Amino acid sequence: MSEQTSFEITQKQLDECVELLKLDPGVHAILRMPMREIHVSLPVRMDDGSLKVFQGYRVQYNNAKGPTKGGIRFHPDKTIDNIRAQAAWMTWKCALLDLPLGGAGGGILCNPKEMSRGELERLSRAYIDQLSDFIGPEKDIPAPDVYTDPQVMAWMMDEYFKINRANHFGVITGKPLAIGGSIGRTDAAARGAMYAIREAAQVHGLDLTKATVAVQGYGNAGYFAALLASTLYGCKVIAASDTHGGIFNENGLDAEAIRKQKSMTGSVVGLPNTEPITNEELLELKVDILIPAALENVITETNAPRIKATILAELSNGPTTPEADAILLKKGVHQIPDFLCNAGGVTVSYFEMVQNAYMYYWDKELVHSRLDKKMTSSYNAVHNTATRFNIDMRKAAYAVAVMRVVEAMKCRGWI
Ligand code: GLU
Repeated sequence: MSEQTSFEITQKQLDECVELLKLDPGVHAILRMPMREIHVSLPVRMDDGSLKVFQGYRVQYNNAKGPTKGGIRFHPDKTIDNIRAQAAWMTWKCALLDLPLGGAGGGILCNPKEMSRGELERLSRAYIDQLSDFIGPEKDIPAPDVYTDPQVMAWMMDEYFKINRANHFGVITGKPLAIGGSIGRTDAAARGAMYAIREAAQVHGLDLTKATVAVQGYGNAGYFAALLASTLYGCKVIAASDTHGGIFNENGLDAEAIRKQKSMTGSVVGLPNTEPITNEELLELKVDILIPAALENVITETNAPRIKATILAELSNGPTTPEADAILLKKGVHQIPDFLCNAGGVTVSYFEMVQNAYMYYWDKELVHSRLDKKMTSSYNAVHNTATRFNIDMRKAAYAVAVMRVVEAMKCRGWI
């Protein structure tokens, strides 16, 4: 049922994995809840002179494998529950990619679309003022997520440097290139998804040069997914959407033209030579590759029976409910589960931390080839586990990730 919260869904997914792996109930209890949650109140002077207090959170889920890592989102209705889910998924994501990192998530309840640049800067700095004791390159490393970007990361980094009176570049990732960012971070999540899609296509004997693609959501991840699907592999993107609705053209859409339309008018809708479709219709199109790149819980038990895609590449976190998973499995839809599919973002974030620590920066070719290697080996680890134990791809991803976290906890003497 879609009334389940995102965090309840992560717990349910974990419960199934624990049952499969026959883990000890005590270990299960540790893995089921965040290690630490920090709630903060952030007073910000608004442009009209009033003082407004925002609520912010940071959830550090598990640090057995290393410092916790995860994005910060600015959203009016993303509650602590969503942030807990984000932190849990980051734990499994980092473990699955075999990064020396744990998982975290953060956010501020606000509507960035209604705030000025100055207000956003003061809010970003206030968040770091409250959290600076709890973050750091060896403790917890934030990054961008929904409605935060390199500029927000830059303000946050600057505030951390001022408090600590030192340039700890690795405190935050997704920074602008001019101040310690990594080449290839901006399109990393979408590019990583492309490498996973290439592997999945090989498994299914799907010729990508003839494949059709639909992209739901046209933020940073959605735009780059549409762009790279066509430029890297020659796929035909036939539909795209955002919160206002979608567009369709069976002869193919130009990713760059869609982006321009959205930045000029606020929506992809209305692009010349396209037919309007709804988000619901887009998800149910008969395409080779469906890429949800927006928010959680869009594929549910209600629409899952009508999903016709061959490959479902989950670029957003938590787009599919557990009930929908079961239906898709029966229908033979090949899922690339979210915390595998979108892991390119945190992988290049990790590369950014490594470069920050060495004070020596890689070129684009090196970033792309190392990302490809990580994504390909993680996809294969999941696919081999799924085949070997006859389980679905999400369960297999959980099994690989959870075993790695459990092994780290064992080595450290926690269990
Ligand atoms: N927010 C992104 C994610 O969910 C990136 C996290 C990071 O780079 O730390 O993977």
